[in-house]
Amino acid sequence: MFLQKLHLKNFRNYAETTLEFSPEINVLLGQNAQGKTNLLESIYVLATARSHRTANDRELIRFNQSDAVIQGLVHRRADDVPLELNLGKRGKKARVNHLEQAKLSQYIGQLNVILFAPEDLSLVKGSPNGRRRFIDMEFGQIAPRYLHNLTAYRDVLKQRNRYLKLLSARKASDRVYLDVLSEQLAGFGGSIIAQRQDFLGELEKYAQELHLSITQGQETLSFEYESKLKNISGRSETELQQLMYQQLTEQAEKEIFQGTTLVGPHRDDLKFLINGKNVQIYGSQGQQRTTALSVKLAEIDVMKAQTGEYPLLLLDDVLSELDGQRQTHLLQTIQNKVQTFLTAPAMNDVAQNLIKEPKIFMIENGN
Ligand code: ATP
Ligand code: MG
Repeated sequence: MFLQKLHLKNFRNYAETTLEFSPEINVLLGQNAQGKTNLLESIYVLATARSHRTANDRELIRFNQSDAVIQGLVHRRADDVPLELNLGKRGKKARVNHLEQAKLSQYIGQLNVILFAPEDLSLVKGSPNGRRRFIDMEFGQIAPRYLHNLTAYRDVLKQRNRYLKLLSARKASDRVYLDVLSEQLAGFGGSIIAQRQDFLGELEKYAQELHLSITQGQETLSFEYESKLKNISGRSETELQQLMYQQLTEQAEKEIFQGTTLVGPHRDDLKFLINGKNVQIYGSQGQQRTTALSVKLAEIDVMKAQTGEYPLLLLDDVLSELDGQRQTHLLQTIQNKVQTFLTAPAMNDVAQNLIKEPKIFMIENGN
C-alpha cells in the first residue's frame, strides 16, 4: 500500500498543506524545528489514531486552534481509499471512504505504518514498558482481535486494581466480586499472551534471517517471551486463560496486600538473545542497535505476511544513527517494495545510499 496524498489542517505547526508523494522514496529535508517529524507524526496518527510521541491529542492541534484534520488518500490493492481523522476538544472522529466509523478499532488497520525513530534504537536497552508498547502498537495494527482484547484487558485491570485497593484498605470485603474480576481478566489476559507468542514467533523468524545477513552469518538472534505467569510454554489459549485464573487466585492475598495485580501481560517482557546470550546485558552498543534494526525491518515482512500488503516505512533521523554497512542494508531492504518517508538535515546525508531518485520535500516553518 502507499499514501498518495496528504492534507493537513492545523496539525502541529502546519496551518494548511497538501502534499503528493512518490510511491517509492520521499525525503523530507529541513533544518531543526521546521516540521519534519511533525509530518511523519501526522502520517503515523492517520494510520494508528494516536501519536508515537504524546498521549495527549491536544498537543497535536496547532496552537490557538480547536481542531486538527488529517486526510489521506491511500492506495491499497486496486483501490483508492480516503481516510480522515479529526482531532478536536471532544475527542477523535475517524472516517473511511467518508463514512464515520463508530469505533476507532474499526478504523485502525486501514493504513499500516512502521515508524523508526532514534529512540527505537533503545528498544533492547530500554524499559520493559517500551517493549510491551512496541508489541502492542505493532501487533494491534494488524490484528483487530488483539486490539480488542487489549482494550478490554486494560479496562478490567483498572477495575480490579481499584477493587484490590479497597480490599487492602478494608473498605470492601466481597471476595466473590474479586473472583469475577479475576476470571474476566484471565480470559483476556490468556488470549493476549497466546496472541503475543504467535506474533513474536513470526517476527523472530524474519528478524533472525535479517540479523544473520546484517552480521554476515556471525550472529543468531532469538527472542524469549518472559511472563510473570509460570509454566506457559506449549500451552493453548484456553490453557493460558485457566493458568492465569489459577495463579491470580493463588496470589490473591499478596495482591490484596499490595493493592495491585501482579500477574498478567501488563507485567510481561521480551528478551532478545544473540547466540544464546541476553543482548540487554551482554550486547555491545552496536549489537543492541543491530538487534533493534533487525526487529524493525522484520516487522515489514510480518505485516506483508499478515495483511498481504507492505506497510509504509517512516524513518525519522535514523540514517545518521547507523554506520555505513547498516545504512546500506536498511536501504536495500526497503527499496523497490516499501513506500518510505525519511527525514534528514540535508541531501548529502542520504544520497550515496539511494539507488532510485527520491521525491524531495524542503520543509520550512510548517510549509
Ligand atoms: P529536528 O530536525 O530538530 O528534529 P523537525 O523538523 O523534526 O526538527 P518538528 O519536531 O517537526 O521539527 O517541529 C517542531 C516545531 O513544531 C517546533 O518549533 C514546535 O514549536 C512546533 N510545534 C509543535 N507542536 C505544535 C503545535 N501544536 N502548534 C504549533 N506548532 C507546534
Ligand atoms: Mg525531528
